[in-house]
This record gives sequence, structure tokens and C-alpha cells, in this order.
Amino acid sequence: MHQGIMKAWLESSHLNGANSTYVEEMYEAYQVDPQSVTEDWRVVFDNLPLVNGTSKDVPEAAHSKVRDYFRSLALEGRQKGSPKVTDHEVDAKQVKVLQLINAHRFRGHQNANLDPLDIWKRDKVSELDPAFHGLDSDDMQRQFNTGSFAHGGETMKLEDLVKALKTTYCGSIGAEYMHITDTDEKRWIQQRLEPSLGAANYSKADKTRILEGLNAAEGMEKYLGAKFPGAKRFSLEGGDALVPMMREIIYRAGDAGTKEVVIGMAHRGRLNVLVNILGKKPSELFDEFAGKHSDINGSGDVKYHQGFSSDFETPGGNVHLALAFNPSHLEIVNPVVMGSVRARLDRRGCDTGRQVMPITIHGDSAITGQGIVQETFNMSQTRAFRVGGSIRIVVNNQVGFTTNLTEDVRSTEYCTDIAKMVQAPIFHVNADDPEAVAFVAQLAVDYRNEFKRDVVIDLVCYRRHGHNEADEPSATQPLMYAKIKKHPTPRKIYADRLIAENTLGSDEVTAMVNDYRDALDGGDCVVKEWRPMTLHSVDWSPYIGAEWDDSYDAKLPIDRVKHLAEKISYVPESHKLQSRVAKIYKDRLAMASGEKLLDWGFAETLAYASILEDNKRIRITGQDSGRGTFFHRHAVLHNQNDATAYMPLRNIADEQGPIDITDSVLSEASVLAFEYGYATAEPVGLTLWEAQFGDFANCAQVVIDQFLSSGEQKWGRLCGLTMLLPHGYEGQGPEHSSARLERFLQLCANHNMQVCVPSTPAQVYHMLRRQVVRPMRRPLVVMSPKSLLRHPLAVSSMEELAEGSFQNIIGEIDELNASKVDRVVFCSGKVYFELLERRRKEGLENVALIRVEQLYPFPHEEAAAALAEYSHVKDFVWCQEEPQNQGAWYCSQHHFWSVIPAGAQLSYAGREASAAPACGYPALHAQQQESLINSALKL
Ligand code: AMP
Repeated sequence: MHQGIMKAWLESSHLNGANSTYVEEMYEAYQVDPQSVTEDWRVVFDNLPLVNGTSKDVPEAAHSKVRDYFRSLALEGRQKGSPKVTDHEVDAKQVKVLQLINAHRFRGHQNANLDPLDIWKRDKVSELDPAFHGLDSDDMQRQFNTGSFAHGGETMKLEDLVKALKTTYCGSIGAEYMHITDTDEKRWIQQRLEPSLGAANYSKADKTRILEGLNAAEGMEKYLGAKFPGAKRFSLEGGDALVPMMREIIYRAGDAGTKEVVIGMAHRGRLNVLVNILGKKPSELFDEFAGKHSDINGSGDVKYHQGFSSDFETPGGNVHLALAFNPSHLEIVNPVVMGSVRARLDRRGCDTGRQVMPITIHGDSAITGQGIVQETFNMSQTRAFRVGGSIRIVVNNQVGFTTNLTEDVRSTEYCTDIAKMVQAPIFHVNADDPEAVAFVAQLAVDYRNEFKRDVVIDLVCYRRHGHNEADEPSATQPLMYAKIKKHPTPRKIYADRLIAENTLGSDEVTAMVNDYRDALDGGDCVVKEWRPMTLHSVDWSPYIGAEWDDSYDAKLPIDRVKHLAEKISYVPESHKLQSRVAKIYKDRLAMASGEKLLDWGFAETLAYASILEDNKRIRITGQDSGRGTFFHRHAVLHNQNDATAYMPLRNIADEQGPIDITDSVLSEASVLAFEYGYATAEPVGLTLWEAQFGDFANCAQVVIDQFLSSGEQKWGRLCGLTMLLPHGYEGQGPEHSSARLERFLQLCANHNMQVCVPSTPAQVYHMLRRQVVRPMRRPLVVMSPKSLLRHPLAVSSMEELAEGSFQNIIGEIDELNASKVDRVVFCSGKVYFELLERRRKEGLENVALIRVEQLYPFPHEEAAAALAEYSHVKDFVWCQEEPQNQGAWYCSQHHFWSVIPAGAQLSYAGREASAAPACGYPALHAQQQESLINSALKL
């Protein structure tokens, strides 16, 4: 690089003739795309001084200005430097000075003073040494042009420049941002870091506030440690600066117009954040430590997983704070937080992200170890999932439970390297310098608001105790803990600093400690900015306590259904459809006018239209949700001429609810977690996630296990999310047949969620409407069909939509003589139609077919009603397509037993138990299918 830049420089020095044209051409190319010129030239152009002080003006800079600038470098060098040096030498040194500046911007963080314990040994970066660039002690006294370095005047003595660079880039802040390709962003960060040399000029009040934060953080942990020795609290000690940092972030955000902040964090430091930021009463926490609990309904959760909500006063007005409930999984809460933020932003109609801000707090091992972090970064700028950027804080205590970072935790230089995939700036900061911490906190908020992108703060700290307080960390980290034992606390270090600089007296510092301890003794909220929560966002009261009550009324007059049917079938003529899609819409017109019975896609779309007409919001994501994996939905229509999109569902009424149907990123875990977060913050409308194939939901198993199925019981958080999981044995092999129904059924208890297998278009219509109209907000898991989407028997009439409701059980539909029936077959889903067709074909009159459309909660009364006329029957069968160890057989048979007559037998007709969900050979599949149908029908 260095030879290259020298050559280029020397060749173009004094920019005349051909050389100036050459440089101009390159500069033009650089303006269009900085990556199009070689790195040597990028350094030179990046370092051109700002015209009129703002980087935005740079692209408009006239070429003559560039030429003039290069000339001035040489001139200044001659005037201010040694008159004996030649032009070429001055030019060469000047370029090296620019390189030195650049080296600090790029690599200063690698030699920054980041580790409070000073055990993180890093190689010296030679490019940060002036000698590396050929700049010697004589040069130190010379004036050089400082290019775009935003401190001091246009020129500086090299000695001063080096000092300024070291202070800015190698002090307590290691700013990593030169991986960002956008020049404006880089310049913006430089403008924030360089003028003040990476430090703020804090007033006494600011400094006192920062110390108060450290005082509270330490005071709280010491108090808990003394009062409940040995109890697990996952102490923050060592990372105490998190508390003043959070306060600065919230202050800054509130000042800039943020109304809500949603926080996600794992257990480390959580109790401290709960008490010292969110204002949870210490007395409540102490009660929890003492084992008392007030929650008589749910299972509750350990105290360091609890969420909390409050309001917090800032100079810009009150900010609502919500700390998300969190399972033990360290990172999965991040997409949940993002979903919650997106729901709040959508409700507020804010698409910049300004009004609601996410903060996620990570551990250093987890942020680099857990794939969900990558997924969440990947979502951060996409249409369906963006939230205007998030503030991501790493509490980097340099140890993973007992695992050493150096060899065993990661393969990257920093734990935060993953953030570079979205070009997020990363501010590493020494947690023992709380002013630097406060400075980056403010910088991060401003960056997020300015660029609507993620930003990372890597709070480099340590962990004073073991992973928890019962642990003995010296067993595995002897040297680190020998050092920690001797290391003063962050509060002590900062208090001593403020005393030494005469900002505070030692008596004031001591009083602060005592006052805080007294406040904890008092048990009341210790956060002076705490304000009682106001109803700022959404009222959950209509939904809280709403139970399994089927007395809701979701019926719509038939005229209204017909009107909506016309609306969803209309496509402007100018919007040219692909021929297969055009055929589907032609059929829809026929369905709307009553010429055809309704198919699945039509009824499903009608359900959405009816919800929107009620002014409620709908959000659907999934990998192919616009079209539908199986080509049935076509809610987003792509114009074949210009690729524009048209959504009939957005055009059903002048005033209607908003609808977003967006194809998601190719992930299940983060998307489902996001939608869970969305649905737990948005009770009014319908939030729906569709899997491409149902079995892929297992990539999101943690979300299903730890949030969806148990969130209400653990945390009292309701969630009306609907999951559409394509399921059905169509001979597609082990991977695309089963949505693993058995897994969901196994998680069902306490009426925690609904598991449905609708078999007709009318059923899917009513099921979706019920999910919104009924005030109960619990997850709905749907085994949704594939071949039934186009099955000639799976059709419904407009009347069935208008007059019916969701049937948890569908009894026999053919007119059988009940007294001739000697076998009743229960089944769910598509196998029903195969049984029906075969029975009709064989002319059987002795087998009745009963569809269980809702497997959980099992509808005992409706099942009993459907069976009433078969009380004489002794032979009952459950028929399923899945292998015997899968499907509903094991989890639901006790329900079937409970509704059949006393003395009757229940047997199984289905595939044999199998390790794989389905076979891959079409012939074998067909043979198995035939055999299970025969067995169910006694053929
Ligand atoms: P938040 O905006 O998340 O801080 O919630 C404010 C309040 O609304 C909470 O304290 C709860 O009382 C209630 N709330 C929020 N989300 C839910 C939910 N998913 N289920 C039940 N209540 C909720």
C-alpha cells in the first residue's frame, strides 16, 4: 500500500497535465463509489478536508478544489516545514501523515486501553507508530495538513496530532467503524469523536449523575450479597457502568423524542437493572429472595427472568420502559424485543423508529456463540422486520461461565465481529471509565437516530464473582480472579477521580453510599426518574382473563360477506397478472358471484378482509407468505409488465385496518420469535406466521417451548399469534410431510394454546375470525393443508361462511342410518377426504366419520354430541396418516377414550411407528396410505 500510494502521489504531485486529469478521473469514480478506486487512493480522498464543514458537500466539491488542495499541501509544507526539504519530500511526508491518521481510524481500537484488568494482551499495531510511516522526531515539530481529521485547525504540529490521535482512538474508547462503506456515516462518526478527542466535557451535575449510577449498581449488589449470602443474583459487579450507561441512553433517547424503550437482557445484572433503571421496588425483590410470591395462577419464574414495565422521566418527557420477560436461553429474546418494538412503532404510525427504541444486552460469549444473533442482525434492515436500528450492549466480562475466551469461546478478534455483517459501528469501551461509557452511550443513541441502523457498545469489564454467587471462579480462572480480588470497584475508582479533581468531597461520596443503602432499607423505588405507568400504548384489559368461551359472535351478514368477496377479487385492469394467477382471480370472481363454491385461498382471504374491514391490523410473514408456498394465496399480485405489487386486501374500504403480508428472511427462529414479540405487544389484530413447510418450525423450537407454549403461565403474557404449518402426507418424503403435530400436543396443558386441523374453507375462515373476535389471546397452532387447497371436496358455500361458526368437531355429513353403524372413525385433516371418498366408492354404510378439527383443547361436549347417535357402537378407531409414535395418537387418545361409550374399544389405524416422519419412496407411501385407509374402514 505504502509504495503504491507514494508512487501515485509522486506521479501526480503538482497535478498538472496528464496527472491532474488522471487524479480527477479517479476522484470522480471515488465520488460515485468509494470502493471503485484502490485503497491507496481511497485513503487520500477519504482524508480530503470537508468543504463547508459537512461531508455531504464533498461530492459537490469542484475538481479545481481538489487540485488546489493538493497544491496547498505542498505549499504549506514548504512554508511551515523545513525550507530545505524538497517538494517531493514534503508531499511524501504529508501522505504519510494522512496514512497515520487513517491507521488510527482503522486500527486505533486494537491498541486502545479497553481492559480494566489489563490482562487482555494485544499485539502492538505497528501502523499506529509514526516511525512505521517514516515520520521521525524532526517531523514531530513540523506542521502538517490534517486532512479530514476533525480536531484543531487545518494544520497541526505532528507531535500534537499524534497525541490527539492517541487520545481519540487509543484511550478508553476503541471505535471500530471504518468497515462502514458509507462515507457520510464514517464522517459523521469522525465528527463526533475527533473534535472532543473522544471525551465529553461533563458538568458537575453530569458527573454526579454518573457516580450515582455506579453507586446504585454497587450498593444494590452489596446489599443483596449481605442480606442473602450465597443466593443466586447474577451480580453485575465489574460491569457496574451498565447502570449509568442505561440511564444516559434513556435520557438521550427521551430528549430526542423516544416514547418507549423495550429492553431485552439475560440474567447478568438483571436485578440491578430492574431496581435501578426500571424502578422495581426493592422490597418486592427482597420478598422474592425470601421465597414469597403473589402469583397464584401461573408457575411464575425465577426473579432474574422477570420483566417489568414503568415510566421514566427524561428532559424530553416521560419514556415508557418495558423489560421483556426472558427465558434462560441467552439470546433468543432479541428478536422478541424487535417484534415488540415493531408492533409499537406500527401502532404509532412511526416508520423512522424514532418513537420506540430497542436495547438488547448481550453477554460476550453469547453474542458470538449464538446463531440467533446473526439472524437478528440480518433482519435489521429488511422491510418486515426493521425497527430503525437497535442499541446493542455487550456486558463483556471476558469469561464465559467457566470458559476462557482466548482459545475456547470464539474464532474472531472481538466478540462483536458479527455486527460487522450489517456494518454496525462498534464502540468498545473500558467500563472503569464511566465518562467514556456515558459518551459512547449518547453517541450510540444519536447514531441510531440519524442512520436508523444497529449500533454496538462493547462494555469491556469483568465479573467480580463466579457465574453466580455460589460458584468459585478461581478454580478455573486463577490469575484473572487473583487480579479481580485486588482491583478497586468502578464506583471507588470514579469517586476517587472526582474527589481528586475537586468535583466532589469525600463526605459527599460517603453520604451518597449511605443514602442509597437507607433507600434500600426503606424498600421503596430508588429511581428518582421513575413515574407511574400511564396507558400510553394499548389496553390489555379486555383480553386479560378471557377464557375458552365459545359464546362469541363472529357472524357477518351475507351481504357483507358477498361485498367483501367482490372486493378481494378485484384487480385493476392495468395490473397485468401472470396467466396462472389470472386464472385463480378469474375463479375468485366466479366464487364472488356465486357461480362457484369457495376454495381455501378465497375463504382465507375473505377472513382477512372481514378483519380489516373492522379496522383491525393484520400482519403475515413467512418465507413465501405473499404468494403462499403452495400457490394458493396470491395476496400480493406482481404486475408482469413493471413488477409493481398490488394487494386487493389493501383496497377493500376507504377506512380499513392496515395489512402487511411480507415474505420473510429465510429463518424460522428469529422470525417466529419476532412475531411472538409482535403479538405480545399487539392484541387487537391478527398476527400470523406461516412456515414454508411445517417441519421447518423445529428450527424455532426454542420459541415454541420457551415462549409460545409457556409464556402465559410463566409470565402472564398473553399472545394471540397464529402459526400456519403446512402438514399432510402427500408422498413428499420425510422432510415435507409432517409439521410434527405430536410436539405441539405434548406441550399442551392448562389450555395454553389451541391446536387445530381445519378441513374446509369455511373452517379456515371461521378459525381465523374467531382468533380475533374472541377476546381470548392464546397461540393458535394450525396444521394447514397442502393438497386440500385445491381438493374438489374441500369447498364451502358463501352461506357456510355467513351463517356458520368454527366447528371444533364435525360429525358425520352423509346420511347414514346410525343404527347400521358399527364403527366410528375419528380423524383430522386430509385423511378424512380419502376415507370419505373410499367409503362412498365402496358403498359402505356401517362406518361413520367424525372429524376432530380442534385437537386441543379437546372439545369434549361437541364430541359427545356428535357421538350421541352412536351410543350402541363398540368399535372406535382413530385414523391418522402419521406413524404411530407421531401425530395425535399418543397425546390425544385419552381424550378419545373419554368420549366413547363405556365398554367400547378404541383402536389405531395409521402408519407403523417409525423414526422418520414419512417414507421417501412414492410407491411405499401409496401402499402405506392404502393400507391405513383399508384398516380404518375395515376393508
Ligand atoms: P408494556 O408496554 O409491555 O410495558 O406493557 C404495559 C402493561 O400492559 C404491562 O404491565 C401489562 O400489564 C400489560 N401487558 C403488556 N403486554 C401484555 C401481554 N402480552 N399480556 C398481558 N398483559 C400485557
